[in-house]
Amino acid sequence: AEEMLRKSDRLSIAGQLAAGVAHEIRNPLASLSGFVQLLQKEATTNQHYYEIMLSELNRINFIVSEFLRVAKPQVLHFESKDLHAIFKNVIAIAETQAIMNNVQIITDFDPDIPAIYCEENQLKQVFLNILKNAIEAMPKGGDIRIEVKRGKADGVSIRFMDEGCGIDPDRIRKLGEPFYSTKEKGTGLGLMVSYKIIEAHQGCIHVTSELEKGTTVEVRLPSVMTK
Ligand code: ADP
Ligand code: MG
Repeated sequence: AEEMLRKSDRLSIAGQLAAGVAHEIRNPLASLSGFVQLLQKEATTNQHYYEIMLSELNRINFIVSEFLRVAKPQVLHFESKDLHAIFKNVIAIAETQAIMNNVQIITDFDPDIPAIYCEENQLKQVFLNILKNAIEAMPKGGDIRIEVKRGKADGVSIRFMDEGCGIDPDRIRKLGEPFYSTKEKGTGLGLMVSYKIIEAHQGCIHVTSELEKGTTVEVRLPSVMTK
């Protein structure tokens, strides 16, 4: 519990700082892009270098915009919701990417899952982030198993199990840190946002993994919020 608390402190401070920095980066970035484009128009050689510079600047802009999109405070609307309905929608969205990657999504729901007090759109975002990571961890395809069970006390346990590349045990503690990514096109923001959202729901995320075997991401949520 203490480790989890430390992690959440670090996240909020790092997150706030990063959001401020991200905002400040955009103006000089726009001005850089403008001048590179001007130089490119006048240049008679090395066009390829200008292309690379512009595409790298675009990439920085994309990461910064993505970050601001998720870090911006939103109006939250908590309601009592049925997880079946939420998952029906989430799986329908994830299915396209899954099929394209030869991934099959299998679900296993306990019959008596209690309702969850949640901000539906944020919760969907978490489940989609986790499913996306699972699909990306299986470039050759495989199964993702989603188990929804009644947890201890009156909570719910949702486990996403993949058969992907797995995560180095030393790296598991880095999950949820802003910008931690091992992917060439990754932003390292998906899990950071997911940890924050689940914390706001008074739940927790627990990751276990074995290299080359697969990863289990467990989301535990209380069925009734106490705050
Ligand atoms: P991104 O997907 O943009 O890299 P995330 O925050 O979603 O950022 O994930 C951070 C990192 O955690 C990933 O780059 C990957 O190394 C690791 N990871 C997350 N989920 C899984 C998974 N199911 N299997 C293997 N590695 C994972
Ligand atoms: Mg991701």
